[in-house]
Amino acid sequence: TSSPTASAVDAYLNSKILHPSFGADESLARGLQRADEEGLPRIAVSPQQGQFLSVLAKSIGAERILEIGTLGGYSTSFLAKALPPHGRIDTLELEPKHAKVAQANFLDSDLYPFPQIIIGPALQSLKKLSQPEEGAYDLVFIDANKDQILEYFLEALRLTRTGGVIVVDNAIRQGKIILENNTNEDINVSGLRKLYDWVEKDQGKTVLMSAIQTVGGKSWE
Ligand code: SAM
Repeated sequence: TSSPTASAVDAYLNSKILHPSFGADESLARGLQRADEEGLPRIAVSPQQGQFLSVLAKSIGAERILEIGTLGGYSTSFLAKALPPHGRIDTLELEPKHAKVAQANFLDSDLYPFPQIIIGPALQSLKKLSQPEEGAYDLVFIDANKDQILEYFLEALRLTRTGGVIVVDNAIRQGKIILENNTNEDINVSGLRKLYDWVEKDQGKTVLMSAIQTVGGKSWE
């Protein structure tokens, strides 16, 4: 017999352990459909990855979350649902069209706290952001263009509390991160390598970092 595929395993896990606040929330599926209809790329996190973000946020008692890369707001919804009602979630997006779809999805989901979308190039938006008056961000999810990951990470450090969590998506690039001669060809890979170089130089003074190779319905990442 052939081995089960990663997609089939994801389907099994979704049927078993997706929390009802996600699994039974039809607005999440409608949100993906709306994104499809509007021609947005299918590059949102998978349900298990979204739920993992939720687990992380809950486990540190996050009250303030910052996201870089909104797309149709799918991951934003998983993060928002992990927040207490007095929480706050800000999400940065370059494309007004994506932001419009995300806004429609947030309204459809009746999210509370309601995410604030900040439109524009994320680095510009980040430079203008300060730590929220209520306190620094507890969790930052970086999931936008990969060539500026280090810049986003450094801004995230500035905006995050000590003991906070910064999640960087697509940290493996199908393994290409170990191919040195790839650095000039693929800005996505070289952007990530800059982050790993920074962490190497940091020598554990600022961050404790772990990078995990995952397999799932969205392939190897
Ligand atoms: N986090 C989303 C999810 O899982 O549902 C997926 C985000 S998608 C992978 C990346 C998003 O980053 C796209 O919507 C893209 O338009 C946005 N983006 C790309 N370059 C950007 C930039 N310079 N500033 C802000 N957003 C950017």
